[in-house]
Amino acid sequence: MKNSLLIATILCTFILTGQETYLHCGKVLDVASGKILSEKTIVVEGNKIKSIENGYTQPNTEITVVDLKNKVVLPGLIDMHVHIEGQSSPQTYIQRFTQNEADVALQSTVYAKNTLMAGFTTVRDLGGSGVNIALRKAINKGSVVGPRIFTAGKAIGTTGGHADPTNGMRKDLMGNPGPKEGVVNSPEDGKKAVRQRYKDGADVIKITATGGVLSVAKSGQNPQFTLEEIKAITDTAKDYNMLTAAHAHGDEGMQRAVKGGIKTIEHGTLMSEETMDLMVEYDAYLVPTITAGKQVTEKAKIPGYFPAVVAQKASEIGPLIQGTFSKAYKKGVPIAFGTDAGVFPHGENAREFGYMVEAGMPALKAIQSATITNAKLLGMGENLGQIKESYLADIIAVEANPLEEVSTLEKVFFVMKEGEIFKSE
Ligand SMILES: [Zn+2]
Repeated sequence: MKNSLLIATILCTFILTGQETYLHCGKVLDVASGKILSEKTIVVEGNKIKSIENGYTQPNTEITVVDLKNKVVLPGLIDMHVHIEGQSSPQTYIQRFTQNEADVALQSTVYAKNTLMAGFTTVRDLGGSGVNIALRKAINKGSVVGPRIFTAGKAIGTTGGHADPTNGMRKDLMGNPGPKEGVVNSPEDGKKAVRQRYKDGADVIKITATGGVLSVAKSGQNPQFTLEEIKAITDTAKDYNMLTAAHAHGDEGMQRAVKGGIKTIEHGTLMSEETMDLMVEYDAYLVPTITAGKQVTEKAKIPGYFPAVVAQKASEIGPLIQGTFSKAYKKGVPIAFGTDAGVFPHGENAREFGYMVEAGMPALKAIQSATITNAKLLGMGENLGQIKESYLADIIAVEANPLEEVSTLEKVFFVMKEGEIFKSE
């Protein structure tokens, strides 16, 4: 009852016109200081924040006013690890043979929408077929609803490695994928694969430095690149100003990735203390993906959900991720918020906050990792991640103070991306 009254109030204060929007915010979380600011008006002009004024300013002309007086407002969230093209299910493994690219593309628009509606206005997509590049273009054009995407296109692996797209297939279907398909076996291949991704329109580079859980292969943790191969990839990526990420569960592969100049380590499951120290030294970030760990642990218990070889790895690796995150955070390893959405349903990305807090990270730090930190890593530190004058107007609203009740981030009532309102309940 209370909710429906509130919705009615918000709807009543909606007056559509013009390029400016006034947001009357009861509370604004300043993510930089952790302070809650009361009774502010955020003036949005075009795609940017024009000003933040004290009190509830009434516009003179017929301008859109959004009533968020009973809400807590914060910047749009950023997830550094999603796979927007797919969503894990028992059908995943057969779908490689049954789905056309168009099927993947159409389905991905649904996942994109679910992600944005959950308050994630920016994501880094760490690997799909290349549909993710087309999706980014369509979203930028405004023809599809979704978050701002920085995409790796197709991830880079080695033969038989976690990102070899023909793992587990019949011999005549395996073929011989190379750098173009994201399979490399030398530093030269590595350079070529990065340049191919640049040509394809990727924004960032992802490698699979070790085995992984969901691929049809025996080891979930063996090192799968040489140090020389990784260096060739990161050096080339630097030429094109592309951020680098490495999927890694095993410690040896992880160390090579850090020493080879990779900026973000995804999962980090079996990270040793030595590697944690290295991460601090190299200013490399851990992207925790605890939610994915929880999800595969649960799903591995369901007979037939995964192929047997995958279920085995899932039940071994999945339960370790949260503990490693806890240790790494306490040791001072820089943390960048990321979930691996797609392993679990898109739109549930904010579950990660609860797991981070449970593991000992204060809610403010977790929120900062999903805003200020990620914006900076994506080269958008002056445009995204904060509610600040001249920043892009990516703004969301939740019911409660997330510093006291972090699960409130799992239910987002209002979503604005670049000045456009996508959700207003
Ligand atoms: Zn992933």
